[in-house]
Amino acid sequence: MLRITDLRLPLNHTEEQLQAAVLQRLGLKPGQAAELLGFTVYKRAHDARKKTAMQLIYTLDCELASATREAQLLASGDPHLRPSPDTRYRVAGSAPADFYAQPSRHRPVVVGFGPCGLFAALILAQMGLRPLVLERGRAVRERTKDTWGLWRQGVLKPESNVQFGEGGAGTFSDGKLYSQISDPRFLTRKVLTEFVKAGAPEEILFVSKPHIGTFRLVSMIEKMRADIEALGGEIRFGQKVTDLLIEDGAVRGLTLESGEQIRTDHVVLALGHSARDTFTMLHGRGVYMEAKPFSIGYRIEHPQSLIDAARFGPNAGNPILGAADYKLVHHAKNGRSVYSFCMCPGGTVVAATSELERVVTNGMSQYSRAERNANAGIVVGINPQDYRQDGKTEGPVNPLDGMAFQRIWESRAYELGGGGYRAPGGLVGDFLKRQASTVLGEVEPSYKPGITLTNLAQKGRGSLPDYVLEAIREALPAFGRQIRGFDRPDAVLTGVETRTSSPLRITRGKDYQSLNVRGLYPAGEGAGYAGGIMSAGVDGIEVAEALGRVMLGLDS
Ligand code: FAD
Repeated sequence: MLRITDLRLPLNHTEEQLQAAVLQRLGLKPGQAAELLGFTVYKRAHDARKKTAMQLIYTLDCELASATREAQLLASGDPHLRPSPDTRYRVAGSAPADFYAQPSRHRPVVVGFGPCGLFAALILAQMGLRPLVLERGRAVRERTKDTWGLWRQGVLKPESNVQFGEGGAGTFSDGKLYSQISDPRFLTRKVLTEFVKAGAPEEILFVSKPHIGTFRLVSMIEKMRADIEALGGEIRFGQKVTDLLIEDGAVRGLTLESGEQIRTDHVVLALGHSARDTFTMLHGRGVYMEAKPFSIGYRIEHPQSLIDAARFGPNAGNPILGAADYKLVHHAKNGRSVYSFCMCPGGTVVAATSELERVVTNGMSQYSRAERNANAGIVVGINPQDYRQDGKTEGPVNPLDGMAFQRIWESRAYELGGGGYRAPGGLVGDFLKRQASTVLGEVEPSYKPGITLTNLAQKGRGSLPDYVLEAIREALPAFGRQIRGFDRPDAVLTGVETRTSSPLRITRGKDYQSLNVRGLYPAGEGAGYAGGIMSAGVDGIEVAEALGRVMLGLDS
């Protein structure tokens, strides 16, 4: 197979034009079309720099009838022709059927069934290791009802919500499936392929910024659960891990909230960034961890039409482009970086807390991305010295301090929202003037159960620390110069966005195991090794492979 890269065509081209462009790039005349047996699109991106002449950019894999011609093309020196890489996934090893006949062997346990735990469990199951998955939250259908309970009635279930339950934090999301991780083994392809097998639209395999949306994710997760079970895995819901048994520096088992003890020598910790009680337990047990930087800010909402027009000009609304997204960064004078985070085109702002009487925002959308507003986090990077709680100005920071800091601002947001999980909100125009908002403009906030207009930027008594307010007040007009109207006075800010990534890292070595507890494999976002659905899934695969190889004795 031969790969063609950077093949550019106008936005509204036909299939015939694409075929003709492929033939031309291969040096084949129309009469030689039979020499091209077929081609598949590997990736399709768009170039929107010239809004009146937007282009689609293809990477394609071609099958030629003649191996000689393929060799000649490869030798031609054209930088956009190369052999197609083999992107197929190969299982790292396979347990014999009688593997657990030896009584000293115990099944590996995966704690958490978000994207990281899901892929860790799937790979362990594909290796024949029949993992046991323990998930504190409920199965995805019941969890959906619980989550809607918060959004519609203001009733939070602390063990079943946007953060906790089958599918993890990404279930009620935009389902964006791209990531900037380096991927020499094409593991992102493995994640996408499994999602397609489970019912995701095939286009996620080739569009440059694939996304799934919430409704589809729900049924896909159920399908993947069934696949794991069919391979001998077991998944238990409503099973919170509350303790870890460590002997001589190695894992020996786990305790559940029910009191049940589970014997195991291998544990994947795929906890997500909101498992604060579990982080505290692990810290108490002496598992090595360290404080890490994360970001805090607000969700901002604009009409999606404003973003589409700014990004796509006259092509706004073209179905091949879908709803436009954006990515913005500003380096503020106070040394802080302000950036857009987890942008959701045509989506809604959601209540994403897992703790009583706290408010946290995030964003989600459906596959169609057809809601009226675009939303994104506008967040500011902070580091452990900013959030240390011991009053000192230097030295190591307690790894749990980031959580304490998040709680302070999430509680403040609850208070400013006036209770019932309403969120504090304000208009950009008022925020820039440091004044209270009293009436909405054209942009209608989508957060449920609703927002309470307030002064988000009040100095000393604001909704976030002053250095964060200052950096965002400087960034918004700068963003308005990149996207006209971004700083329009009636754009809505909803607070607070505090859970952008884990506030700590459960540090691991090159063997993917905890630095000081053998058999413990910290993984995914909660351990500080992923940020997003795709990178969490890939980390789950890598950790499972490392663990599986140890169990099967493949590294000795
Ligand atoms: P999680 O998904 O957080 O899963 C951890 C699981 O562990 C949870 O189900 C939890 O219940 C369980 N758990 C925790 N403690 C215990 C315990 N003690 N015992 C048993 N189980 C436990 N990312 C994207 O890439 N694209 C998006 O569009 C996107 N949108 C998002 C929208 C929202 C509303 C949210 C909240 C997040 C979004 N994200 C998105 C981020 C993404 O969801 C996370 O990066 C990803 O889910 C992290 O995966 P994970 O498996 O590491 O952790």
